[in-house]
Amino acid sequence: KEFCQKFPKIELHAHLNGSLNEDILRQLGCSDTSIEKYQKLTNILNKTTRTLEECFDLFKVAHNATKTQENLYLAAQSVIRDFDKENTIYLELRTTPRSEEDMSKEEYIETVVRAIKDCKNVCSILVKLILSIDRSQDAQTARESLDVILKMKEKHPEIIKGLDLSGNPSVGNFDVNLFEKARRSGLKISIHCAEVKNDEEVKKILEFVPDRLGHCVFLHPKHNGSAENWNIYLEKKIPIECCLTSNITCGIIEKYEAHHIGELIESKLPFSICTDDKGVFRTTLSNEYEQVMKHFDVSPKRLYQFVCETVKQCFASDDEKRLLLVQLQDYYQRVL
Ligand code: 5GP
Repeated sequence: KEFCQKFPKIELHAHLNGSLNEDILRQLGCSDTSIEKYQKLTNILNKTTRTLEECFDLFKVAHNATKTQENLYLAAQSVIRDFDKENTIYLELRTTPRSEEDMSKEEYIETVVRAIKDCKNVCSILVKLILSIDRSQDAQTARESLDVILKMKEKHPEIIKGLDLSGNPSVGNFDVNLFEKARRSGLKISIHCAEVKNDEEVKKILEFVPDRLGHCVFLHPKHNGSAENWNIYLEKKIPIECCLTSNITCGIIEKYEAHHIGELIESKLPFSICTDDKGVFRTTLSNEYEQVMKHFDVSPKRLYQFVCETVKQCFASDDEKRLLLVQLQDYYQRVL
C-alpha cells in the first residue's frame, strides 16, 4: 500500500466532477442527504444490484455543487491537490463544459484552466486538460460545444490537449464528423468505448483510430466482444485507459481478477491504470495501482515499465514526456 502511495504515478482518465470526495462536496455546500446518497451508492463493499444509470445519477450531486465559477475553481484545485498528495506526477483531467445560470461554457473552461495554472504555484504535478462531449447532447449542441472548445484551445494550447466522448453509454452515439474536425484542429482524441455491448458503435470508433480508448470492457471476445472488432483492435493497438474499481462498482465487471487488464498485460497490449471518478467510486490512483499489482501478480519493476509505457501514451509535449521519464528513472534508481 505504502509502495503504491509513494510510486510516481500517471493519471490519464479522471473526470473532474466524478473525482470530488465527500469532504470537498461538503465544503462546496452539498446537503447531508446528497452526501448520504453518495455514500450509499459508492461503497464497493456493499455492492447490491447497482445499474450504470444509478451510477450516472451520482454525477448530479457533484454538478449541483459546481454551478458557480468560484465552486468550480475550488473543486478543480482540490482534485489536483489530491492527486499531487499521492505522488501523481502527471494528470490529464477531463471535464464536460456546462453552461449554468452564471457561467457560460467558455467561462467554465476558463475557470478550470485558471485552477490548473494556479496549482503550479503550490503543486509539483504537471496537469493537462481534456474536454468532454457528453453523448446525450444533441448534434447541434455537441457542435456548439466543440466550437467553444476549439476557441479555448487556441487561447490555452499548453493546457488544453484533448477531446473525449463520455456520458451515459446507453444514450446517444459517436459522431465521427465531430471528432474528425477536432482532430484536424490539433486535439488528441480519447473515446469511451465498449462500456455496454454495442459492437456496431465499437467498430465505428475503432475504425476512426482515436489516440486512446476509455474502458473497452466488452471488446475482448472473452468479455463478450465480437471477434471482428477484436481483430480490428489488434491491428490498431490503441492504448486502453483501464479503470478497475469503476467497472466493478458499476457492476459491469464482477471482480478485480476478472478485469480485462489481465488480457492486455498477458498480450503486451498498451494500457494505463486510471481512477475514472475517484470520488464517486471511492478510490485513489494508489489503490488502483495496488489492485493491479495484487490481482495480476505485477512486480515493482513491471509496474515501473507499465508507467513508462503510459508516459508514451499521454498528450503532453515530447519535452514534457522526457522530463516525466527522467523523474521515473530517478525513482527507479533510488528505490527499485
Ligand atoms: P464532468 O465531465 O462533469 O467533470 O465529470 C462527470 C461526467 O463525466 C459525468 O456526468 C459523465 O458524463 C462523465 N463520466 C464520468 N464517468 C464516466 C464513465 O465511467 N463512463 C462514461 N461514459 N462517462 C463518464
